[in-house]
Formats: sequence, C-alpha cells, structure tokens
Amino acid sequence: MFSYRHAFHAGNHADVLKHITLLATLRHLMQKEAGITLIDTHSGAGLYRLDGDYSQKGAEAEDGLFKLLEAVETADSVPEPVQDYLDQIASFNPGGVAKVYPGSPFLMQRLMRHASRDRLRLFELHPTDSKSLASNIAQLDAGRTITVSREDGFEALKKLLPPPASATGSKRAMVLIDPSYEIKSDYVKVANVIQEYLKRFSTGTYLVWYPIIPRPEAHELPRRLRTLANQAQKPWLNATLAIGRGPGDEGGLTASGMFVINPPFTLKDQVRNALDLVGPALARGNGKEWKVEGSN
Ligand code: SAM
Repeated sequence: MFSYRHAFHAGNHADVLKHITLLATLRHLMQKEAGITLIDTHSGAGLYRLDGDYSQKGAEAEDGLFKLLEAVETADSVPEPVQDYLDQIASFNPGGVAKVYPGSPFLMQRLMRHASRDRLRLFELHPTDSKSLASNIAQLDAGRTITVSREDGFEALKKLLPPPASATGSKRAMVLIDPSYEIKSDYVKVANVIQEYLKRFSTGTYLVWYPIIPRPEAHELPRRLRTLANQAQKPWLNATLAIGRGPGDEGGLTASGMFVINPPFTLKDQVRNALDLVGPALARGNGKEWKVEGSN
C-alpha cells in the first residue's frame, strides 16, 4: 500500500484517455443549470510537475500528452474533446510549455460553476499526496464548495450519495473512481461500490478507470460492470486505449479503459472521435487498439 504515486504517471496514455472522457462528460453535465455534486474518490495530489524528478523517472507523459501535442500540430482537424483537454492543460501553463499537469481534481474544479452551487468532494489516502492536494486546493480560496479529506474514497461515498437536492429539487452527482489497483481487493471494491450505488443512487454518472493487464481480476472488472449496468437497466460506455509495444519499448502499463455508467448520450461519439486522433498519435507497436463500446 502507498507505493503508488501518480506523479510518476501524470500525463501518460491512461491519463489522456481518462481526462478526455472526464472533461467530455462534465461539459455535457454542466449544460443543465441545476447544481451537481462532483466526487473524486481517489484524487491524487492534484497538480504534477512534468519537468520534476518524479515524472522524469517514468517520463510517461512522453508517451502520452507530449505525443498528442506533437500530433495536433500536423492534424487536419482536432476533435472538440481533444482540443478541450489540451486547452485545459494549456491554461495551467501560461508560458506555452507544458510543465504542469492538472489531475482530475483540478480539471473538475475548472468546470465547476459557483453560481449553480456545484460542489467538489475530494478523497486521497496517501499522507504526502493528500497534504499536497490540500495545499494546492487551498490556494483556490474556494471555501466549502471544495473539500479535501484524507479518507478512504470507497467508504466516503456512503456519506455523500444520494447527494443533496439542488435549488430546483434535482439530485445530481458525478463520481470518478480511479484507484491505483495496487491491492487486488480494489477490483472487487469497485464492483461492490457500483453494485451498491446503482441501488442507492441509480441516476448518478459513474466513471471508473481500470488498467488492462494480464490479471484475472483486471480482465473481469469491465465485464462485471457491464453486467451490473445491464441488470440495473442503465446505459453504459466502455472506452479502451492500448498503445502497444514496439521494439525497445520498456515495461509498464500499455492499455487501460474507462467504464462510464449513465454516460451523456453524446459521449460515445465524442470519445470515438477523440480516439481517432489519440489512438494513432500514441500507438507504439504490437497490440495497439482503441475502441468505444456502449449499450446504446
Ligand atoms: N484521479 C487522479 C487523477 O486522475 O489525476 C489520479 C489518482 S491515482 C490513479 C490513485 C490515487 O488513489 C493515489 O494517489 C493513491 O494514493 C490513492 N488511494 C489509494 N487507495 C485509496 C483509497 N482507498 N481512498 C482514497 N485514495 C486512495
């Protein structure tokens, strides 16, 4: 436990898929005036230096964000969700060079509307990363609309869902579940949480990131999520990106997926369009593949 630090991985291919999907989902949810509760059960530190010690050790952004930035320079057109993602990152880098990478808490924060009373609830267990997250968020002076807790994100959902009603009486929430899967039990916990909250708050939008690795639990998770969504008669979407491995490419994660329950109806086309550019831009060799499946 706690050997995972997201700083080693910030801006990699998994972050590209995750954060494009997250932003496209949020953009759609924000079209409705009613306030929404945003929850990030596994937040990380919030901001990462792409030129710092941690990220350089893995240099994983080289095979993610930086390849994408290179590809858009020569692309005929850039799909809206990709442009939105790159614009958000650019807004954290006023100097024009990507030195800072915003994690999910900051991407969510950027899209929150204070006038609509949106709320952001962040959870991070790692002692150092939760401190960094708290101090990064404190600089925003956001008051009680954003809270950071050093708590188990799976457990914390109990207190938060169903969310409080907005001024118009509707209860809206979007939950990002993005564990490090350092411990095997994370896979089961994710499935259990989804099963429970599809009963307790079935209209929420749930986004689950998962690694695609040769482990039975990892293989099983998206299947289980699909079964749970189908049983609850809720729409779902599953987007996967495998960058493959060319000669000389070292170990490390090469593929991951985003499973979304109750996705916006626009999401499938948006992520598909995004992957039409992202997939070829990030692909390295054997095993490269990207696809978006969904129930509707
Ligand atoms: N969501 C972040 C982003 O997209 O920028 C990245 C999160 S990282 C993949 C997973 C984080 O979960 C790690 O920082 C880890 O310390 C933290 N973590 C692990 N188990 C946790 C738990 N049960 N509750 C909350 N945080 C946890």
